[in-house]
Amino acid sequence: MRIPMLDLSEQYSKIKDEVLSKLDEVMSSSQFILGSHVKQVENDIAEMSKTNHGIGVGNGSDAIHIALQAAGVSEGDEVITTSFTFFATAGSIARANAKPVFVDIDPVTFNIDPSKIEAAITEKTKAIIPVHLYGQMADMDLIMEIANKHNLHVIEDAAQAIGSTYKGKQVGEMSSAATYSFFPTKNLGAYGDGGMIVSNNDEIAEQARVIRVHGSKPKYHHHMLGYNSRLDELQAAVLNVKLPHLSTWSENRRTHANYYTEKLNDLVGDFVIMPNEVEGNYHVFHQYTLRVKKRDELQAFLKEQGIATMIYYSIPLHLQPVFKDLGYKEGDLPETEKAAEQALSLPMFPELKQEQQDYVIEKIAEFYS
Ligand SMILES: *Cc1c(COP(=O)(O)O)cnc(C)c1O
Repeated sequence: MRIPMLDLSEQYSKIKDEVLSKLDEVMSSSQFILGSHVKQVENDIAEMSKTNHGIGVGNGSDAIHIALQAAGVSEGDEVITTSFTFFATAGSIARANAKPVFVDIDPVTFNIDPSKIEAAITEKTKAIIPVHLYGQMADMDLIMEIANKHNLHVIEDAAQAIGSTYKGKQVGEMSSAATYSFFPTKNLGAYGDGGMIVSNNDEIAEQARVIRVHGSKPKYHHHMLGYNSRLDELQAAVLNVKLPHLSTWSENRRTHANYYTEKLNDLVGDFVIMPNEVEGNYHVFHQYTLRVKKRDELQAFLKEQGIATMIYYSIPLHLQPVFKDLGYKEGDLPETEKAAEQALSLPMFPELKQEQQDYVIEKIAEFYS
């Protein structure tokens, strides 16, 4: 049996007719930039996020960068975030000419540890970016409490967590802004790049709208420097077809996650720690990520058996060569570094079959027996 991390083919076959007819609609209308499909998906995703504004941009990385700029983050400012995330989180901070300040993670959720944030705040701190890693929201109550006390913006990196909730609250509902990615492998994936900022802050939303069109307002009048980063109309048309399915797809992911957890629990004992859904959270399982002993050997063994797995993330950002001038060294963020040695993500997508999961589970048990 060969089991990929992600297989988008079955999903496409189910929505193919609708997608092709929407794409035809766009091409026949000749309205390719910021047309009605972008408007619709901005409205629908803002509504889902319980926010007043949705701003479609070129990708999830630009969404973070633009949200930071729109919130006034600039040269010399510091932004607190996690080191255990995709590069774009800290890359976007640096592109906004600010300095990423890394805080260690909570070993249970892999998300930023709120109890370590306050010690990292200085006069230069402007914002906190929690990342809702693998599809589970960070501890937003504590993060918002700290941010409010110190007058900081919170920008949620929700690239992996569209549709997740925290104590009944949506992504973007509590903070200054949240950012989504529509990279094809994300839970709501386009057929190319795409991203969005959602916000309840009128000023940030207005600034973000101006930044994505070269800082132009009114048209051809430039009072600030922006750039070209817009959600593409064709991608928006695809997203409009997919969005109504998102809650079912999230439920399917959760069913698969429960199945993995239940079966692995019986079989692998102390060798494997399953992901934990914190009470009050709705985890959308962008990834199903274990902590395992002998991780690299297990990964190689599974590969021989035809099972794809991924390591998110093997090198934490504070140890990346491009950030060496920030002055971090090995040992600075022990929980992050431990997670980087133990994390292993298993195949996960809504259309995953039980027999595929059984095979993965059987082979993991075989490895440890
Ligand atoms: C995917 C991702 C991004 C970047 O999104 P792109 O659309 O690929 O630019 C940012 N942060 C996290 C946590 C991601 O997983």
